[in-house]
Amino acid sequence: MDCIFCKIANKELPAVISYEDPDVVVFDDLHPRAPIHKLIIPRKHISTLNDLAESDKPLAGHLMYTAQRLAKELGIAEDGYRVVMNCNAGAGQAVFHIHLHLLGGRAMTWPPG
Ligand code: AMP
Ligand code: ZN
Repeated sequence: MDCIFCKIANKELPAVISYEDPDVVVFDDLHPRAPIHKLIIPRKHISTLNDLAESDKPLAGHLMYTAQRLAKELGIAEDGYRVVMNCNAGAGQAVFHIHLHLLGGRAMTWPPG
């Protein structure tokens, strides 16, 4: 499958990987929007949040749990951080393999626009 995040997960494309386990991979965003900007992806290819199956619910929890654990490890948990998943082009999704953005290290405004 021609998916850049599948290729990163399979080590066919380079990335700065900060965490991986049998189900999840975390790497630096190539164009960071904050001092800390990680992408948390499942190894399983799921195109958008709309394609999440009921059987993927534990995996979705694993992604979210990884985000908070990493935020604590990176020292941004107390100051605050943002976790975002864009769904489809209208929300800004550009890579069609689901991913959580973990953003921190600076103050962030709300609403995001
Ligand atoms: P989204 O717009 O939510 O689909 O986010 C896709 C993100 O992937 C963007 O923040 C890009 O900067 C990032 N990105 C695209 N290609 C790569 C890559 N090869 N390695 C790391 N991050 C990437
Ligand atoms: Zn993929």
